[in-house]
Amino acid sequence: MADAPRLQTDALTCAFDGRTVVENVSLSVAAGEVLCLLGPSGCGKSTTLRAIAGVEAPAAGRIRIDGREVCGPSALIPPERRGVGLIFQDFALFPHLSVADNVAFGLKGAKAEKRRRVKELLERVSLERYIDAYPHELSGGEQQRVALARAIAPRPRVMLMDEPFSGLDNRLRDGIRDDTLSVLKEEGAAVLLVTHEPEEAMRMADEIALMRRGRIVQQGAPYNIYNNPADRAAAAFFSDINVIEGEVQGALTDTPFGQFLAPGVADGTKVDIVIRPQHVRIDFDRAGQGPRPTVQDGTPARAVVTRARFIGKESLVEFRLDNGSAMSATVPSVFLPKPGTPMWLSIRRDRCFAFPRQ
Ligand code: ADP
Ligand code: MG
Repeated sequence: MADAPRLQTDALTCAFDGRTVVENVSLSVAAGEVLCLLGPSGCGKSTTLRAIAGVEAPAAGRIRIDGREVCGPSALIPPERRGVGLIFQDFALFPHLSVADNVAFGLKGAKAEKRRRVKELLERVSLERYIDAYPHELSGGEQQRVALARAIAPRPRVMLMDEPFSGLDNRLRDGIRDDTLSVLKEEGAAVLLVTHEPEEAMRMADEIALMRRGRIVQQGAPYNIYNNPADRAAAAFFSDINVIEGEVQGALTDTPFGQFLAPGVADGTKVDIVIRPQHVRIDFDRAGQGPRPTVQDGTPARAVVTRARFIGKESLVEFRLDNGSAMSATVPSVFLPKPGTPMWLSIRRDRCFAFPRQ
């Protein structure tokens, strides 16, 4: 028999004062896997995490850890007996305890054994030289690494992390994310990481569960979620998007980039064709005045530059199409055409998503 998932929720539902804020959330995380619960502020991520931790009582649903029900019709196990570790944004170390004592806080057993585990963990997060220091002597990033060491010290089966990196400045964050990830992978805990930042989820997750208004709207590997979004909002959550509005007539939608097939879609259905700016191509060879060039992907559309900015690594060029609608394209490196310059644009059809308008 295959091992039970390390963490499993089944139709978890939470409500405050009769208002449902988490609805039918079913998640499964294997040992050594990182699942990111990603969604905008207020969508119910923290509430889900708190229910799993046991500090919030769900209205319905089950939670299992290693196949054992810790919350549900047949059991309600208190937080301290669930085998979960927690890391929050305000990771508050105990200020009056040394780094070693902070890390040892949740450990049981003989003193020498505890000391050995503390040393091992501090080495793992590259802080062994601070073993006898106090939290105020450490930078924010170092304190966060101590908090990580403290949380994993008792070898939790499940690690729950709620926006743990959002208090850190940008330069520190990437390094700490990567270090944290490798420590967690080595320890083999099932990790549920809550974040509202898509870049963080893409960087950290084996799998992303995209949440909106209390529900999981899509779940999959980062690559799949990015390249195959469930709806327009899911596409827009990961990057700026261009939206070409169309209407289906005779199983076709007319757009400035030629016709799109819409097999089986009723006449009069309004559709949004979504394309990310990095998949809009600019024809550099021809100014937009010449004859319409031919390309493999449909028909190029004429557009006029309205604004161009270098945004670091790439340039963001905004256009107005002949039909008046706006479209933006990103171009690697520096490309800053003057406003008013006409150009031909084409789009990668295999990177377009079509959704019925909502
Ligand atoms: P997120 O972590 O995704 O930002 P939360 O889970 O914190 O979202 O909150 C989801 C919704 O539940 C929000 O509308 C929030 O105002 C509400 N909420 C969270 N905690 C409580 C609480 N203790 N009492 C009442 N409403 C709450
Ligand atoms: Mg939250």
